Amino acid sequence: MANKGLFEDALTQFNRAADLMKLDDGMRQVLSSHKRGIRVQFPVKMDDGSIRVFTGYRYQHNIARGPAKGGVRYHPNVNEDEIKTLSFLMTWKCAVAGIPYGGAKGGVKVDPNELSTGELERMSRRYFSEISPFIGPETDIPAPDVNTNAQIMSWFLDTYSMGEGRSTLGIVTGKPLELGGSLGRPEATGRGVSIITNEASKYFLGDEIKGKTVAVQGFGNVGSYTALILGEEYGAKIVAISDITGGYYNPDGINVKEAFEYVTAHKSLEGFNAQKITNEELLELDVDVLIPAALERTIREDNADKVKAKLIVEAANGPTTPEADAILRSKGIHLVPDFLSNAGGVTVSYFEWVQGLYSYFWDLEDVRKALDKAMKNAFKDSATAREEYKTDMRTASYIVAINKVATATRLRGIFP
Ligand code: NAD
Repeated sequence: MANKGLFEDALTQFNRAADLMKLDDGMRQVLSSHKRGIRVQFPVKMDDGSIRVFTGYRYQHNIARGPAKGGVRYHPNVNEDEIKTLSFLMTWKCAVAGIPYGGAKGGVKVDPNELSTGELERMSRRYFSEISPFIGPETDIPAPDVNTNAQIMSWFLDTYSMGEGRSTLGIVTGKPLELGGSLGRPEATGRGVSIITNEASKYFLGDEIKGKTVAVQGFGNVGSYTALILGEEYGAKIVAISDITGGYYNPDGINVKEAFEYVTAHKSLEGFNAQKITNEELLELDVDVLIPAALERTIREDNADKVKAKLIVEAANGPTTPEADAILRSKGIHLVPDFLSNAGGVTVSYFEWVQGLYSYFWDLEDVRKALDKAMKNAFKDSATAREEYKTDMRTASYIVAINKVATATRLRGIFP
């Protein structure tokens, strides 16, 4: 694996588009710099009476098109490079999806499984209180990400609201329904990936996804809903799924609903009734579509050559390195980039924010309809740019997104 940082990888992909669209140097500097980033170190009282100091981050990449938006993750590997990269990707994700936000991301270096519920609550509240001067419903709106959930968003909301002296629904998204959450948010990223996969299948493979074979790596929030919706609603044949315990293969099609129920009951796919393969083998299956929905950097220089899928739809953030991108392009494998494919989550987060600001809540059908429209438009814009610039889909999506943010920046002008 290359030792380059994640942000360097993302900049390589950004610069490929910036070169092709002949972006001037000044604008390139503006768009590849972060507006603001903070590191906070804060103490938390543990259950045994001891004190532990945690490190957290919040980065805001760009706010030319609207307030910054992005999740907060809790993970022992959280670091500045990762948070910078993910906030950078959020800017392009919001722009390509046509929602009026810029990009942000936050995180705390912690394994939340080591904390009691009380410790997790105190740690979450103190982190949020530390970043509160930099965020707000019209400034920067956090959301769940890896290892954070609706309960943690409720503590965030309450912490901020206590400081304001009023309930502030617009401060976070991914809230429980009872606290101003939106219907359709849990499934939103997977549904968005499914819509994009069907559009990409028509565009690149000449026909709808119905009956085509699909392998999905990762069976968490994104992977499980993607497999379920693609199989049940779009008629795709899901031949393989996986999680941290390995891959599960059935050439006649996996019963995804059963897998879904299995994971709910057993917490992982371990023991699920299908042929056991490795996660590496899953990536190398001869399928029409491969959907990496687990981790970053799963398709790399050392395994890209073994990929046999005709189309890759990136559901995880950053699953393909730039070196692997080049190998896939040379093999004629089409790829839909992460910040286009997985934009469904932030799109429904935007719907949640709008509903909260108006205190008027939509039906599930309205959410799904609006998401469908947004994702299809986003795909169409990228496909149009791909043809205009005669390039690959990642570069085309960057071009669409960079154009929107660069135009907003030019219209606003450089202050003062
Ligand atoms: P999750 O924690 O719910 O699920 C992750 C899944 O990956 C689990 O099934 C886990 O077992 C599996 N996994 C972990 N390590 C693995 C390994 N080494 N090999 C194979 N599988 C492994 O996370 P999620 O919310 O589904 O997010 C997955 C990816 O999608 C992340 O990159 C995340 O940033 C991105 N994403 C998530 C959302 C969202 O709304 N949840 C939105 C946009 C992007």
